[in-house]
Amino acid sequence: MNNENYPVTYGRNLLTPLIDSKPGWLIVTDPVIWEKLKGQVKQEHIRVYFVKTMDKQTMMEEVKTITGFTQVLGLGGGMAADAAKLWAAAQQTPLYQLPTALSVNAFLCYKAAVRYDHVVKYEGDILPREILIDFDILEQAPRHLNLSGVGDLLSCLTASYDWKINALITKSHAFDQRIYDETQEMLSLLAEYLDDIVKNNETGLRFIVRAYKGIAEHSYRMRHTMWEDGSEHNFFMNLERITGKKFLHGQAVCLGVYFLSAFQDNQHERAVSLIKRSQLAITPQALNVSLDDIRQALLTLNRFVREQHIRYSICNAKEVTPEWVEAILAKYQRDFPAA
Ligand SMILES: [Zn+2]
Repeated sequence: MNNENYPVTYGRNLLTPLIDSKPGWLIVTDPVIWEKLKGQVKQEHIRVYFVKTMDKQTMMEEVKTITGFTQVLGLGGGMAADAAKLWAAAQQTPLYQLPTALSVNAFLCYKAAVRYDHVVKYEGDILPREILIDFDILEQAPRHLNLSGVGDLLSCLTASYDWKINALITKSHAFDQRIYDETQEMLSLLAEYLDDIVKNNETGLRFIVRAYKGIAEHSYRMRHTMWEDGSEHNFFMNLERITGKKFLHGQAVCLGVYFLSAFQDNQHERAVSLIKRSQLAITPQALNVSLDDIRQALLTLNRFVREQHIRYSICNAKEVTPEWVEAILAKYQRDFPAA
């Protein structure tokens, strides 16, 4: 694509030359990742910030506590990537991203996910100068973290359907048939590459990044991501609200795709097959929730999206009935039996 907003460099052993290429780094990371990778950072006078929260109020104070750096590197998962954006934006310095796992697509998004109490809001507008995809580092990440990245791709199955409904009813988010078609093509390719993704090899990892980047380039132009983030994410947020628990993003999103694809009557069996092949566990045990938590998250979904003023989707267009919930929960237990 011409005029890329998200330049990506693929390779191995990229961290050392990046840091050596210029002075004055602030590295935003977490203690576990830093312990693993600090040996690759030879330069002195590096400043390191360990991210603990994405609570908006707290972070607005945190980003004033270190000054004098000339660029920021987000080194880690979604929280490090998002916190690095806040630092770079607050002090107006260039931003670099080197994800250590592909669990979410935060390193390829111009907004940052920040929290106000339990509600996640996407805010800001900052592009990275460069994204470094280091296969040595990614292959060493725990496999389930990279697998989790499937969630934000499979979410396109339900989200793109929501986008169509939104475009027909409220038109609150611009629709583009070409992006919609590309999204369906990406889902077909996901099926092709899924075995490589499960093997955690370079081919699979490269596909996840390429697919994320495709979404990101369009979303920067469109100023929204309705084809990637729809009712399946709303279900996940509602489950998080009800249980007060934190989930591996891809697991909870795939659970949402399971239920919402059925609710939309949209390629549900395709979703089931892809989730099974992805080896992301979506049983209640795997998510450490009860079947009743899931029941409540479904039964209160209509009310949740209305109260939170979430953009129009199937959750506004159709009422969840207790009969439907019991039928889909029975199917869910057959499709994904407890171990
Ligand atoms: Zn997501």
